[in-house]
Amino acid sequence: MRIDVVTIFPDYLEPLRAALLGRAVDRGLLEVGVHDLRDWTHDVHRAVDDAPYGGGPGMVMKPQIWGAALDEVCPAGARLVVPTPAGRPFTQELAHAYAAEENLVFACGRYEGIDQRVIEDAARRMPVDEVSIGDYVLVGGEAAVLVIAEAVVRLLPGVLGNPVSAEQDSFSDGLLEGPSYTRPEVWRDLAVPDVLRSGNHALVERWRRDQALERTARRRPELLGALPEGSLDAADHAV
Ligand code: SAM
Repeated sequence: MRIDVVTIFPDYLEPLRAALLGRAVDRGLLEVGVHDLRDWTHDVHRAVDDAPYGGGPGMVMKPQIWGAALDEVCPAGARLVVPTPAGRPFTQELAHAYAAEENLVFACGRYEGIDQRVIEDAARRMPVDEVSIGDYVLVGGEAAVLVIAEAVVRLLPGVLGNPVSAEQDSFSDGLLEGPSYTRPEVWRDLAVPDVLRSGNHALVERWRRDQALERTARRRPELLGALPEGSLDAADHAV
């Protein structure tokens, strides 16, 4: 997979080359290109924003500069992802869909965002998604890109040491994952649940499933309501 990011703060994207993502780059599983939007400006101030039509506070990113940048950065077959709080929610399902793409290009907005015609124009040539990472407002799209890229890249074959861990994560079966424990058996008077030390795999599996159901019911009840028909068995209903 290749990830390209267009931003006015290229340094902000350095973490794309660190830790798990960096290892994926080193192993040839991921290519990363970070592009400074200001390279497509032509004025002495390298301005990328202008006052909004219709008035109001803040500035809007100029379409001519974004248009030229995306024309050059987006190869045929790329999917453009534009982070925005007004976008569709980014989910684990979308992470899986993006992990199947060959090239993702991210356009990082700042100020009040990017002139909407940039998105409309790009959509005439390539698939474009406006995506939100949550119901809050960040200062810019860079942090959102790091979140999305990390969720996507860990799903690429060969990136995680043990692929089963991604299969068992929260959301993979529509539920939150339950709690995890490691040694020691007792820490600050708190003991690891007996069942996890029983060696009985069926009981451990049942306990984990019950914990996932209980945690989901308590913290995210709407997820239970969204489970596909037939995903709960008789034992689940007893929880
Ligand atoms: N005026 C915009 C609105 O209310 O929808 C907010 C613009 S925000 C200050 C500037 C940039 O931060 C956005 O263009 C987007 O790139 C990014 N951003 C902010 N919150 C985000 C979120 N929840 N998800 C994804 N990107 C976000």
